[in-house]
Amino acid sequence: MGLSFLVVKYLRPTLFKAGKGFSILDIEKLANEHLLPIKPYIPGKPVEEVQRELGIDDVVKMASNENIFGPSPKVVEAICKAASAVNFYPDGGSYYLRTAIAEKFGVKFENVMVGSGVDELLRILCVSVLGPGDEIIFADPSFVMYGISAMVANAGMVKVPLRDGYYHDIPAMIDSITDRTKMIFVCNPNNPTGTIVKKDEIDLLMEKVPENVLVVMDEAYYEYVQDPDYPQTMEYFKQGKNIVVFRTFSKAYGLAGLRVGYGFVEEKLGEVFHRVRNPFNVNLLAQTAALVALEEQENVRRVVDSTVAGKEQIYAGLDAMGIRYVPTEANFILIDCETESVPVFEALLRKGVIVRPGQFLGFPTCIRVSICLEKENERFLVALKEVLGK
Ligand SMILES: *Cc1c(COP(=O)(O)O)cnc(C)c1O
Repeated sequence: MGLSFLVVKYLRPTLFKAGKGFSILDIEKLANEHLLPIKPYIPGKPVEEVQRELGIDDVVKMASNENIFGPSPKVVEAICKAASAVNFYPDGGSYYLRTAIAEKFGVKFENVMVGSGVDELLRILCVSVLGPGDEIIFADPSFVMYGISAMVANAGMVKVPLRDGYYHDIPAMIDSITDRTKMIFVCNPNNPTGTIVKKDEIDLLMEKVPENVLVVMDEAYYEYVQDPDYPQTMEYFKQGKNIVVFRTFSKAYGLAGLRVGYGFVEEKLGEVFHRVRNPFNVNLLAQTAALVALEEQENVRRVVDSTVAGKEQIYAGLDAMGIRYVPTEANFILIDCETESVPVFEALLRKGVIVRPGQFLGFPTCIRVSICLEKENERFLVALKEVLGK
């Protein structure tokens, strides 16, 4: 499937109509061969799609770990004000945003990279660092974009199975390092399990990893973590260790639709990033919104507190039904339905609740559910009870 499916669906009829002599085979020769095995990322099902397909008005999306609270009112106000200036290109160097991030975290301006989501920063990093013959190491299952980004860079990957089903196996990841290894990705908290790697394990990793191997910390859910043993990896960065730290405005800050991620990289590596990134990779509204959002820490705290309360609510509901789940440090919960997840996902859809089926996340009997407000959480619990006949 993949590309050839797209070619059949879109390109072929167009080319045919134009009377060109191309065939599918020609296109497959034209495209870079190493890209063809990539399976495109499958996002959560959009609300509008469910409304259209099933004719249900009242639909709640709990599928993409979005922030149901939305951005703070000050952020919305700033976006509206900035909207009349979108005829101008944004500041290509994102000067004000990067300066504010550098100040907040106590690093140099040159250490701060911003991108169109962490997704783009992962892509830039892989393209900057990897090539044929190189490898990255990451946990399995984990965030699927690591593998996709490595494949775009024509590099290989070593996937280290999660320990006890849900936890990063740091010693096994260390044992997997070879001459080919260029980077080790740690998703902390891990998506889709919500589990964390604790400080002692990161200490071990940083002690054992060779200096020419870069440790990449993906901390997209950093703000939600409650466990006191969660490592503060910025300290390693400030000590000049071989580490990159990524964070995002998409989750706790509630700006997923604007696409802003940030990262801390060593200065020289940063210079490579600037060569590779698009010249205006964070748009004008996104820069404006992120700058204001960074000031709104009170809002982040509210979001996190409410998410923690929602987590307890969902735990209690699942416990009462005897349904197993993985205790989470993020804003989503992996729930084991102990039956194939796609029919459960479809049955929940018919009740207007969108979750993510585990089929494509490496957990075929699980669903991943984003924590929302009390009302949505309750609606999900009631729907799940009916669907699983508990
Ligand atoms: C959501 C997510 C990201 C990326 O988010 P962006 O919207 O691209 O900033 C990165 N890593 C993990 C593990 C995520 O779940």
